[in-house]
Amino acid sequence: MSRPVPAIVILGNGSLATARKIQQVYPGALIHGLAERVDGADRVYREFGVTLRELYQQDTPIIALCAAGIVIRTLAPLLLEKGAEPPVLAVAEDGSAVVPLLGGLGGVNVMAREIAAALDVAAAITTSGELRFGTCLLNPPSGYALGDLELGKRFVSDLLAGEAVRIEGAAPWLAQAQLPEDAQARLAVHVGHAEREPAPNELLIYPRNVVVAVDAGLEDVASAVREALHQAKVAVQSLSCLLAADSEMANPTLREAALELGVPLRFTSAGADVGTRLRTAIDHPVSILGNDTVVMAVAEQPLDPLQIGRPRGRLAVIGLGPGAAELMVPAVKAELSRANDILGYETYVRMAGPFRADQVQHCTDNREEMQRARHAFELAAQGRSVVVVSSGDPGVFAMAAAVLEALHESTDARWHNVDLEMLPGVSASLATAAQAGAPLGHDFCVLSLSDNLKPWSIIEKRLDLAAQADLALAFYNPISRSRPWQLGLAIEIVARHRLPETPVVLGRDIGRPGQTLRVTNLGALTPDQVDMRTMVLIGSSTTCVFPRVEGGEWVYTPRWYGEKPTS
Ligand code: SAH
Repeated sequence: MSRPVPAIVILGNGSLATARKIQQVYPGALIHGLAERVDGADRVYREFGVTLRELYQQDTPIIALCAAGIVIRTLAPLLLEKGAEPPVLAVAEDGSAVVPLLGGLGGVNVMAREIAAALDVAAAITTSGELRFGTCLLNPPSGYALGDLELGKRFVSDLLAGEAVRIEGAAPWLAQAQLPEDAQARLAVHVGHAEREPAPNELLIYPRNVVVAVDAGLEDVASAVREALHQAKVAVQSLSCLLAADSEMANPTLREAALELGVPLRFTSAGADVGTRLRTAIDHPVSILGNDTVVMAVAEQPLDPLQIGRPRGRLAVIGLGPGAAELMVPAVKAELSRANDILGYETYVRMAGPFRADQVQHCTDNREEMQRARHAFELAAQGRSVVVVSSGDPGVFAMAAAVLEALHESTDARWHNVDLEMLPGVSASLATAAQAGAPLGHDFCVLSLSDNLKPWSIIEKRLDLAAQADLALAFYNPISRSRPWQLGLAIEIVARHRLPETPVVLGRDIGRPGQTLRVTNLGALTPDQVDMRTMVLIGSSTTCVFPRVEGGEWVYTPRWYGEKPTS
């Protein structure tokens, strides 16, 4: 059963060697290096605090190669907010010390031991139970669930006070622990899937060895599952996943039920009866229990939900923003880290990376949008988590519309069942406007000057009307080698309705290395100042310009139109 891949965060080149050794313990973990301080990191960040907090909030285990104090201070504002937390460790730059800081229940001590072993030092374990017994009793391995944390804490303190313990049921991971075992002990660790009232002298641990097959026709799926488990005297904590038929993949009732029960939802082809479907989806010997509407399979061993049926596939069409990592929204970063497949124009896929070895990159030419969209659905329909990347915002002259067009044209139910979501990004016009001030501060019109997918006549008409309407204008795709003359004509059309002094902003490679921002005016604007990596913003009749103290100018379009309001 897979654990989340940790992030290794370093501040300087001095930590790189230690970071690489730790990376060998967690293949797939990326080394995040501070910009301009670290050469050859897998991923570059600018702000330590922001980066660490973001990782923490995404539940990513953190291995920070720096002073424990820095990590504590950085994460302190977040610590009160949250019950569950990812493991967080501080490791000395030279690898001489490994200090687990947070995430005791998320297995931080296990990680500390793994890292310490690789670095050939001792982990600074400070958890008493862990020290004494060699394991954290409250953190059973995956595949098992702790009954109750508060009762568990009391149980461990009784043990620490010197009491002995019995083990009931199969707890293979405790074989190596140094527990004071005694068959007559008052305290007992009880491992089993039977429904049971917790007694004060018992630590209940449930194997997740039960799968329930459900049908979306039920009125209240979660309650029906609880009731059926109760009837069969099976603990709800032993539930590993819900299993439903493929045809019900997009059903919101099932999704909500799985969420409420806190288990994954898996799918299988609709077979004969539910019992057979369950038996075929699980390649372990199971006994089948239940009633007419809810059927369950109980195995001897914990069941890994990842091995049962398949998940609902996901397709996210994401916007990277203009380029700089700080301008990428956190939801997009999280989506990129969960993706199995990444599709897009090579330049953008590279911008979205780097990726782990287990993530598949499918780079294609910029013009193959429909083919890329169909390929994305094919992958997602297999249950994979797929990301299609666009620069800026995916809904602005980019992949989101192509993906929807592909779906609209398709009658394939598997495609329509995919969990499809668009995640927005900062579009080039907005990124450029922000750098110039607020040239789009009032009504504006966004146009692509490319006549690849629309006739030039419609572009001329729209330009003419938008210029006449005195809207500020944002031109995407202003010019290219195959479209050399269109921009000159566009400028002419706008100039029929606007004065030569009208402010113009040219943003090139905004948010990327070597970005330039230039403020000029309509009279001075010529196509040779513009290329395909440029955003052209043309002001309205109210757009103004004034000098900035640090040099250059501020450009803005006031919020009002006509008479300036008083105050
Ligand atoms: N989806 C993108 C736009 C794709 S169209 C977005 O929302 O930004 C491509 C055009 O966008 C380019 O021809 C250029 O005009 C503009 N563009 C994209 N990225 C840019 C950047 N970083 N700086 C300036 N213009 C950019």
